[in-house]
Amino acid sequence: MKEIIKSNVSVKLDDQDELACPQCEEPYTLHISQPITHWDDEDYSAPIGTRGEWIEISTWCESGHSMTLIIGAHKGSTFMRWVLHADITDEDYQAGRI
Ligand SMILES: [Zn+2]
Repeated sequence: MKEIIKSNVSVKLDDQDELACPQCEEPYTLHISQPITHWDDEDYSAPIGTRGEWIEISTWCESGHSMTLIIGAHKGSTFMRWVLHADITDEDYQAGRI
């Protein structure tokens, strides 16, 4: 996962249940790669502070904001939060580093 600038950012849905970008609130969030699962994880390794299984989905929005959606389990509950990364630059995009 890319360097985290901020974690535990709330997830917001628009009126059509689309995930909004946590920085610009536009609904155009694109997946970068397949989800990564962290199963059998009994440590507090999830970047949102949960202890247990967690899933990460790397995304970016059309304005260049970079973030990862984390779905984590903790004490019988499931949490969904964003972690934010540095914005994607045109250089990153041209070099395929997104
Ligand atoms: Zn955005």
